[in-house]
Amino acid sequence: MPSIDSTIEQIAATAGPAPIEVSNPYTGKVIGAVPRMSAARVREALEAAHAFKPSLSRHQRAEILERAAAIVRDRAATLATLITAESGLCLKDSTYEIGRVSDVLVFGASEALKDDGQIFSCDLTPHGKQRRIFTQRDPLLGVISAITPFNHPMNQVAHKVVPSIATNNRMVLKPSEKVPLSAIVFGQILHEAGLPEPMLQIVTGDPSDIADELLTHSAVDLVSFTGGVAIGKSIAARAGYRRMILELGGNDPLIVMEDADLDEASSLAVSGSYKNSGQRCTAVKRILVHRAVAARFTDLLVDKTRAWRHGDPTDPSTDMGTVIDEAAARFCESRVNEAVTLGARLLQGNQREGALYAPTVLDGVDSAMPLVLHETFGPVSPVITFGSIDEAIAIANGTRYGLSSAVCTQRLDYITRFVRELEVGTVNVREVPGYRLELTPFGGIKDSGLGYKEGVQEAMKGFTNVKTYSLPWH
Ligand code: NAD
Repeated sequence: MPSIDSTIEQIAATAGPAPIEVSNPYTGKVIGAVPRMSAARVREALEAAHAFKPSLSRHQRAEILERAAAIVRDRAATLATLITAESGLCLKDSTYEIGRVSDVLVFGASEALKDDGQIFSCDLTPHGKQRRIFTQRDPLLGVISAITPFNHPMNQVAHKVVPSIATNNRMVLKPSEKVPLSAIVFGQILHEAGLPEPMLQIVTGDPSDIADELLTHSAVDLVSFTGGVAIGKSIAARAGYRRMILELGGNDPLIVMEDADLDEASSLAVSGSYKNSGQRCTAVKRILVHRAVAARFTDLLVDKTRAWRHGDPTDPSTDMGTVIDEAAARFCESRVNEAVTLGARLLQGNQREGALYAPTVLDGVDSAMPLVLHETFGPVSPVITFGSIDEAIAIANGTRYGLSSAVCTQRLDYITRFVRELEVGTVNVREVPGYRLELTPFGGIKDSGLGYKEGVQEAMKGFTNVKTYSLPWH
């Protein structure tokens, strides 16, 4: 593969006039540029996609995805460097992300090979018949518009693109304008692996110029969006009569009961709060701790936070790089300062230098404080205490979000109550809220999503129409 610098240069060479510049959040330097496309250019992409009728066999789709997975693994170090350069995520995080991208491709390849039909005998009741009903899943008639956020620059893109290819669909994808290079390079890898061009086109530009075209063009059958709640809801209002998959923000709790292994719980708290610079939809955003163990837990949390090395994202020993930009770091700082003004106690962190924001711990946090009532997208560990499981569940359910959750306890009676009563898409016992396989169902309810799931298998269902046919069968 050419070096990342020359790849970025090649992309910039096609960017045209008044391009969108891409900056490195750590150095502040402009590292590249991508085209600022017009609505007319996006319309062309949608129409070219619509005019193309994919005819790849299951074997061919699996082969393309497997080939792309091999390329991604082969170039892992270079691709991780690219993610780090445009997002400020540290190399540990971006290397992990590349491994996930390869998993998405591998799962897509194996799912593409599976027949997804069902068979029903029709002689099941007294008025039955000697017939059978069969189902098959067809690609959509129209095009899929996909819009992705900045926080996993390549893996969020993979989670839209791979199920689309595995189901023989056509997709036009707009990545976040903050991290478009990883998306473009991922698209190039798929085309190098043999994917026909019209099955995936990456468009870039200012959302205020091009988003409406992606949401409302008559060729679009499905909008698949991952991002914040406000934009997700505005998309729901604008997209009209078409299928929509919305994966929105989260405010996930880690709940620590009085019987929990506190060493394990505090390790989960730090990794859940600070990995990916705290910028995961499923990051730990609230830590709910039983009063009986709160002091011991918080001491461990502060010690482990102090040991979490943040700084130069390109240093392989760094545990955490920057957040996406200085504005995001300032936003975390202002939410924490506001919480302190409202009575929370700052125990660690809250220093900022440009887009670098130190991992931060507060206790004495009240669930009505904006820091925890809304999503704070950064490396912050706010500790809220409770006295009973009823109170823990009420606090956990007390926000508009419902993405994921984590619970630390050994007691089965507690676990069964959490699984039954938490208003979320996922409950992970003794794991971080973000734990998942790239294959398994994933997604939120309430303001976090409409209940449709992603994960390769569910996304493939969402990207297809079920057709039923019946035959006489004696
Ligand atoms: P964002 O909502 O600001 O942007 C997401 C995408 O929407 C970007 O591509 C952006 O260009 C585009 N966009 C901006 N304005 C638009 C408009 N008017 N119409 C259509 N599209 C528009 O989100 P972000 O800051 O990039 O990402 C962080 C958010 O994403 C957090 O809230 C996080 O929790 C959420 N997220 C959710 C999941 C999930 O699976 N539920 C996963 C990752 C991130």
